[in-house]
Amino acid sequence: MQRFAVFGQPVRHSLSPRIHAAFARACGIALSYEAIEVAPGDFAAVLERFHAEGGAGANVTLPLKEMAARLAHRLAPAARRAGAVNTLVREDAGWAGDNTDGAGFMADLARLGVPLVGARVLILGAGGAVRGIVGPLLDAGVARITIVNRSLARAEGLVHAHQDARLQGLGIESLPEVPTPSLLVNAISAAHLGEFPLWPESLIGPDTAAYDLSYGPAAVPFLRWARASGAPLAEDGLGMLVEQAAEAFRLWHGVRPATADLLADLRAELGQ
Ligand code: NDP
Repeated sequence: MQRFAVFGQPVRHSLSPRIHAAFARACGIALSYEAIEVAPGDFAAVLERFHAEGGAGANVTLPLKEMAARLAHRLAPAARRAGAVNTLVREDAGWAGDNTDGAGFMADLARLGVPLVGARVLILGAGGAVRGIVGPLLDAGVARITIVNRSLARAEGLVHAHQDARLQGLGIESLPEVPTPSLLVNAISAAHLGEFPLWPESLIGPDTAAYDLSYGPAAVPFLRWARASGAPLAEDGLGMLVEQAAEAFRLWHGVRPATADLLADLRAELGQ
């Protein structure tokens, strides 16, 4: 039986083992998939041991995505563009690194019917997840992307990496002057720590779709604020999670599983 895992810290509460087990059942593939908690300093050694013990593929989550890009012997275009890896595929020569976060995000926006051609996008945050979604958004034909981050240098680093005139990076103090977007993406991880930065109501207009990359309790404050501010659509990142997993599954097994039923099951369980 082939062995797969998600590596991260913390990773105990990851839904990935559950998702991949469901995909495997639906596709009639025998595999094991576990969550392995590992500190950044131990990641390289633990990953090699995992391979020696039959590991054929891995997902990588916080805070290991950039390290995984350095450990890979080869990067797929999406991972090279993002500078971060969330999916590793074992090849004879070593680990090949890919990034399915962007594809997962785009698949979920398509499911929700969010228009992207000519969209005015505002992204709150400039961390690892944003690295994965900026390129696919640009490819989809958005009119502009403004990245607002607490640390301006990180937002500017992303703008510099992409070299596209539609991208702009700003510090958080500039937020009140940013025009109302048609797509507002929250990629700030503060709610995981029980914090919720206060955003100006001008960020939500009558055509603003609000999307939080996080899911479960961490997404609740942003979604509640967006709905109260009049957003016609406010959605969490559960769909993105399932879609990025389906893309990883395709890279490992050559078949892309259906996602709708599993997403409905998980949503019912989380009660949202
Ligand atoms: P990172 O740790 O790489 O980035 C965190 C971001 O949050 C940074 O921009 C950071 O700003 C900002 N931030 C943290 N605390 C605060 C605060 N108190 N005030 C203002 N800004 C703050 O995380 P990721 O990019 O990997 O993840 C971001 C979110 O996306 C998480 O909620 C994660 O769960 C979710 N995610 C969801 C996925 C899915 O499939 N649905 C996939 C990947 C991520 P600064 O740079 O200044 O520190």
